[in-house]
Amino acid sequence: MNLPEPQLAPAGAPPLLPAQRRFASLGAPYVAQVPTAPLAEPQLAHFNAGLAEEIGLAPGCAGEAWFLRAMSGDGAWGGYAPASSVYAGHQFGVFVPQLGDGRAHLIAETTGPDGRRWELQLKGSGRTPFSRFADGRAVLRSSIREYLASEAMHALGIPTTRALCLVASSEPVARETVETGAMVCRVAPGFVRFGHFEFFYYRGQYERLAPLAEHLVAEHFPEFAGRADRHAAWLTEVTERTARLMARWQAVGFCHGVMNTDNFSALGLTLDYGPYGFMDGFDARHICNHTDQGGRYAYDQQPAIGHWNCSRLLQATLPLLAEDPQEAVAIATAILERFPKAYAAAMTRAWADKLGLIELRDGDPELINRFVAILDRGHSDFTRSFRGLAQVRSDGEAPPPLRDEILDLAGFDPWLADYRQRLRGEGTDDAARAARMNTVNPKYVLRNHLAQAAIEQAQAGDFGEVGRLMQLLRRPFDEQPAMEHYAAVPPPEAAHIEVSCSS
Ligand code: AMP
Ligand code: MG
Repeated sequence: MNLPEPQLAPAGAPPLLPAQRRFASLGAPYVAQVPTAPLAEPQLAHFNAGLAEEIGLAPGCAGEAWFLRAMSGDGAWGGYAPASSVYAGHQFGVFVPQLGDGRAHLIAETTGPDGRRWELQLKGSGRTPFSRFADGRAVLRSSIREYLASEAMHALGIPTTRALCLVASSEPVARETVETGAMVCRVAPGFVRFGHFEFFYYRGQYERLAPLAEHLVAEHFPEFAGRADRHAAWLTEVTERTARLMARWQAVGFCHGVMNTDNFSALGLTLDYGPYGFMDGFDARHICNHTDQGGRYAYDQQPAIGHWNCSRLLQATLPLLAEDPQEAVAIATAILERFPKAYAAAMTRAWADKLGLIELRDGDPELINRFVAILDRGHSDFTRSFRGLAQVRSDGEAPPPLRDEILDLAGFDPWLADYRQRLRGEGTDDAARAARMNTVNPKYVLRNHLAQAAIEQAQAGDFGEVGRLMQLLRRPFDEQPAMEHYAAVPPPEAAHIEVSCSS
């Protein structure tokens, strides 16, 4: 289908993106067409030119008035009627029968120049039928956090939704205090959540599951299309992707904060950046969300919660798996059993890569666990400690600089001797190993205090730090000598920054 000339483009402008209606064509009751609500005095605070190119937007569009209007919810884009979708979810373990895009609108579906499919979604774009009593807005603080984190995770090679631009405004939005409204344009192949299936399953509307699942297969798992067992196939794939995603989070010290099933992507993407955090000092019990008092979503719980969430997805899709309920349960159980195996394989591999070990040997899991326990006991900085391992000389006696940041030296020194011995058996030289390790152990992550500094500047009208962090985090594995201070141990007050669900 050809795109009608975008309504917001200047007269005579060429079509911007091939426009399609894929998810939106599911229609009611999955999707409601609802206009966006423009923000007052919008300002393009940041534009992600790299992503724009990937999806097929000309970089020059950032300077166009129509683009700002489109990205601030001021009218439909290219004739596409904005749409919001309904879902449900288990929030902190409790089923909530109706949630949905309460402040998000799909504003375009397209195919990029390389054939990849994309959906563009505004977040903070006004009330929808799924807003309940909330205002449909997002504040600048949380929008910056989502914008930076999506791109930081992408640069780390972790599956995630992306972010095209950040729009700030003068519109007052009341949270604990009055803040200002903002919008992020999120971009992903699709935004279907575990909770989309839960919505229909728990209402007993089993016949509504298939159209959603067929959409997923057709658009996102075409390799399974036409197969009689296509639903089992995509559910297996999502279960294994989720298991591998959990391993990727653990390996960079990323804590999601709100691992509710409505925040879990049916494409295996990291989705909905709320009170997330990259750990500074390692603490296996770390809870990044101030609201999560029981620590349900603590760092060390994430893999088990990911597993449980998959069990909820499989429960909600039982009617797709077989007509006979017992047979469906048997299929779902077999799929769910893939999770621990996929997680263990991915996690062991990830830790081994972080230690620079090419092949896995018998004692390696113990060697890995001992190092993690040493960091945990002294709350040594997670990112710096792993990055510092690359400087360990396999044949040397001199302590690596990393040792100065380790508290548990009684554990570390004998571990270092064993690690060196193990490295000598690797058969590659130190330089090659260090180069390899530096592609998996990032130097720069989006530490809370860095995001906070960017937020405070932005709230005062200066988006320079947002831009600097975007540039920095685009290359998290590179040394970037001029940016060294961003890799420093955070100041003590960083430990007191509280992030909650307020957004
Ligand atoms: P979250 O905690 O951001 O994952 O949101 C949970 C649910 O509340 C989702 O259905 C959101 O769409 C909805 N929601 C959160 N904040 C707002 C808001 N300010 N206005 C409308 N809906 C919201
Ligand atoms: Mg959410």
